[in-house]
Amino acid sequence: MADPAADDSKYLFTENDFCNSGLVQADWSAKRMVWIPSEREGFEAASIKEEKGDEVLVELSNGQKATVNKDDIQKMNPPKFSKVEDMAALTCLNEASVLHNLRERYFSSLIYTYSGLFCVVVNPYKMLPIYSEKIIEMYKGKKRHEVPPHIYSITDNAYRNMLQDREDQSILCTGESGAGKTENTKKVIQYLAVVASSHKGKKDGELEKQLLQANPILEAFGNAKTIKNDNSSRFGKFIKLNFDVTGYLVGANIDTYLLEKSRCVRQAKIERSFHIFYYMVAGAKDKMREELLLEDFSSYHFLLAGHVEIPGQEDDEMFDETLEAMEIMGFNEEERLGMLKVVSTVLQLGNIKFEKERNSEQATMPDNTAAQKVCHLQGINVTDFTRAILTPRIKVGREVVQKAQTKQQADFAVEALAKAMYERLFRWILARVNKTLDKSKRQSASFLGILDIAGFEIFEDNSFEQLCINYTNERLQQLFNHTMFILEQEEYKREGIEWNFIDFGLDLQPCIELIERPNNPPGILALLDEECWFPKATDVSFVDKLLNTHSGHVKFSKPKQHKDKLMFTVLHYAGKVDYNAANWLTKNMDPLNDNVTALLNNSSSNFIQDLWKDGKTNSHEKPGRPQKTSKVDD
Ligand code: ADP
Ligand code: MG
Repeated sequence: MADPAADDSKYLFTENDFCNSGLVQADWSAKRMVWIPSEREGFEAASIKEEKGDEVLVELSNGQKATVNKDDIQKMNPPKFSKVEDMAALTCLNEASVLHNLRERYFSSLIYTYSGLFCVVVNPYKMLPIYSEKIIEMYKGKKRHEVPPHIYSITDNAYRNMLQDREDQSILCTGESGAGKTENTKKVIQYLAVVASSHKGKKDGELEKQLLQANPILEAFGNAKTIKNDNSSRFGKFIKLNFDVTGYLVGANIDTYLLEKSRCVRQAKIERSFHIFYYMVAGAKDKMREELLLEDFSSYHFLLAGHVEIPGQEDDEMFDETLEAMEIMGFNEEERLGMLKVVSTVLQLGNIKFEKERNSEQATMPDNTAAQKVCHLQGINVTDFTRAILTPRIKVGREVVQKAQTKQQADFAVEALAKAMYERLFRWILARVNKTLDKSKRQSASFLGILDIAGFEIFEDNSFEQLCINYTNERLQQLFNHTMFILEQEEYKREGIEWNFIDFGLDLQPCIELIERPNNPPGILALLDEECWFPKATDVSFVDKLLNTHSGHVKFSKPKQHKDKLMFTVLHYAGKVDYNAANWLTKNMDPLNDNVTALLNNSSSNFIQDLWKDGKTNSHEKPGRPQKTSKVDD
């Protein structure tokens, strides 16, 4: 039988097919082939028959004739450029040709294509045999033009540049949600774990193994199924791999940004909460199940739609894999159980029900079963907890008074607690992972960083989380444009090409300013912060202010089809997004009941105490005082 691995090459190399023969070339010239716009295909190939002033008569491949405006025609490259590896080499560099080339390559299972300095990837949505050890060997130490386009080549070049120039390097992955950023980030790490391993011959050095296991843990707690992507990252991350002077991997560090914590209390239709909730409820068995006080999917209010499954994925098996990854990372049993208790607590918090007292606005908790479970899992006293939620002590001026809460306030306090608890757990996990990956005994000389953020999103319902994600993408895209085009233009200058300098990076500035401008006039985030200070402000009054301030702005509008007072539209670089401002004031303030955090701070469980060690930092010095909206680049 033929060696199946021998077939890999067709996923990387173009075949030298008939397109390059002289005959095809002659045909192309004779037919005067061009691209014309097509509703279905984007662009369609056509041959020019006749030119009349501004109009051109063309013939399509099916023999149909059409008249098109000259300006709508784009030149076609000669056939010898078919499936080129670097699109900068194209004679005619236009949108139609770029898309055509990517499509042709994609249909031949060639997902990587260079475009000058950067690499374009088209998501294949299926496993291709291009990530094996054999392929890694093929890319090791090779210059970019010596091997077909691949994320491995980008990585290898970054690695060699780092060593040669003694300069830190970064790889940025951009693209909308589901494009393949996270998968490619993993390939970068996989490649370096092999190429830069200090454990030559002895495969699977400890650090390399741990580095590869960090991802499954972070993904279990920070990824979720969305309508765009079954394994969508709901946080951004920057992974720094540290190397010594000889290029051996000596440690790593991960930073994360903007965890979408609201997902643990509420999810859109057909979406899921974070994976770990499903892994745990489906996979925990026997003694562990009892210790975690787990119930069936259907009894958890925070998992609105019950057990939403992911095709091709068994949640119970994923639970075992997650636990195994934690073990490899060196998490001990107490830590593992402590983490899962927090996850179970978050679910239980969703089951606490409040009612309004008959003769007043005051909230009551007629059944405290869920609260008891919460307190058991967290090692705190249930009477204290109930009091802290229903009648917290609040500072009024110099005095501290006990203040009865309404049902709405109590519901709100519990949701805020669930979100804060989950976020703290996530931060704890990250710190714990970093502790394992930080092998500071070994001297690090330089690093290679990989940035993988949550990609641009347009959903049916877009909230504050989407604005934050899209704003981050806007900023990153601007940085990318700016850096790329400036580098490119500086090269023109060096080569003595006459050129009028253009700053493409500034194209995105109006939208960025609309969001982040502090004043004159204040942008969306500043107006939101401002509104949080007004005692009578509502989400509607916030949107009113937006409309009053920005109605003339080119990137801002009121969606036409919506009468809803909470809607506004931002025209982002990647598309028009209608935002729904419901609950934005609360999402921005995110206040936490410090009576409860004080209890958690004194929990009988060391793990919980540790989680809330700095419990005060999340609550506000004065009640009702909003936190400042944090900028992504802080
Ligand atoms: P992003 O991080 O950009 O939102 P992901 O990297 O999570 O997107 O990719 C979404 C899904 O697409 C993955 O879960 C995987 O199924 C598929 N995918 C992405 N890149 C590849 C690839 N190179 N090979 C095979 N499947 C891929
Ligand atoms: Mg991702």
